[in-house]
Amino acid sequence: MRMDTIKVVLYTPQDGFANELCDVLKLFFVVEEWQVNSEADENAEIVTHTYEECGERAVCTFAFRGETEQREAVLPAEQDYEGQNEKYLVAYKRISKRLCKVTLYELLKRVTGKRPPWGSLTGIRPTRLIYERLEAGLTLEEAQRYVENEFDVSREKSDLLRRIVIEQQKLPAPSVEEADVYISIPFCRTRCAYCSFPGEAVGKGKLIPPYLEALLWEMQQGAELLRKSGHKLRALYVGGGTPSALNEEQFHLLMEETMRLFSGACEYTVEAGRPDTITRGKLETLKRLNVGRISINPQTMNDDTLRVIGRDHTAQQAEEAFLMAREMGFDDINMDVIAGLPGENAAHFAHTMDCIRALKPDSLTVHTLAIKRSSRLNLEKYPLPDAAIAAEMVRLGAQTADELGLEPYYLYRQKYMAGQQQNVGYARPGKACLYNIDIMEETTTILAMGAGAISKRVFPDRELRIERAPNVTNVCVYIDRVQEMARRKETLFLD
Ligand code: SF4
Repeated sequence: MRMDTIKVVLYTPQDGFANELCDVLKLFFVVEEWQVNSEADENAEIVTHTYEECGERAVCTFAFRGETEQREAVLPAEQDYEGQNEKYLVAYKRISKRLCKVTLYELLKRVTGKRPPWGSLTGIRPTRLIYERLEAGLTLEEAQRYVENEFDVSREKSDLLRRIVIEQQKLPAPSVEEADVYISIPFCRTRCAYCSFPGEAVGKGKLIPPYLEALLWEMQQGAELLRKSGHKLRALYVGGGTPSALNEEQFHLLMEETMRLFSGACEYTVEAGRPDTITRGKLETLKRLNVGRISINPQTMNDDTLRVIGRDHTAQQAEEAFLMAREMGFDDINMDVIAGLPGENAAHFAHTMDCIRALKPDSLTVHTLAIKRSSRLNLEKYPLPDAAIAAEMVRLGAQTADELGLEPYYLYRQKYMAGQQQNVGYARPGKACLYNIDIMEETTTILAMGAGAISKRVFPDRELRIERAPNVTNVCVYIDRVQEMARRKETLFLD
């Protein structure tokens, strides 16, 4: 079931919600062009929206392709929020936006005859909806029914949410005194076709020594900042890019400094990433420093696909890197795969799953291909695979995880994902990665260092208010302005 490509002009009195309404259209169509309240060109289809408020009721109507849908909602009463105007406005906006999105969703569902697996949900963290309902006093089963009824989420997906929340609740919840640490190595050997990460190809590696010098300086400032702000270290993650793209000496230096400056975390993860960058020497460094969790990411075990997506390694290299790590005693290895890669059908993905099943990783992350704007796949206008094929691949991933005794423990969604699916992390009991949950659920303060890393502070005062301090993404600019990056974090953590 391929999605039709359309050009759209939306006439709406609520142009502040235009982007969200476009996201709803993208659940059903590939939207090639999108305009709001402007003159329609002759090839564009028209979506008409009316919205009226009468007392405490809001009435919303959409019209498209000769069909209309009208819905109503009860708005929050201003007097119930006495002295809390900001809170009232948030609740008001939320209800009116939700009304508009659901009305448009129901209309498009009727017009197209399609039902997206996640219903009208377009946000990246559906688990938040379950947590909100739990906080409001519902049971987990009631919260599950709520997302089915309110957002038309399928039973399969609401079951997945329920299982994930059960797994997350088994783990220690972050406290406001705790912080995770993230260290970014924005270099990769080559650029994957689906990647939009603003990293650098390693090339001749000239930028790496000045980058490491700047990063190590920022890490020293970061460690001091954690001490001053009184945060206790929770989980640490070295990611990228590909941290193992550094040579053995650079990798050794980075990891020695990481463990010296940030000791005492309850979890250390290093993304070894591309299998062709993993050497015995780098694994020995990690083993000696007691880094417990590593990630070796084949993405697919089909060599033809690896070539097409520009990964520059083979399936055999992924297998050899995994077996070497196992033989050296690593007992917490994650593998990432992607469903829906160019040229792959369900049989290709089944082959990847057969290889994964034979290797028995301790955790498995099943991504669904998302076409990001700045990726090569987007530039080459690669079409996402058919929704039914993507769904079958995702099912095979879940089945493999099940056969390996892995439980789903975190989930996130992205825009433009094949078949409107999701990314899910599965893990053996006791091997779920705290950092992955923390970053997705946005419940933990994160001190992040390196180009492109985004620090965030979670404030306990008002419903998990979050403030962020992003580092610049360009490596050369980062090297030049690292002192400013450190100052941004000081403001975030100490003010
Ligand atoms: S390894 Fe990851 S960060 Fe590097 S190019 Fe590929 S997708 Fe992008």
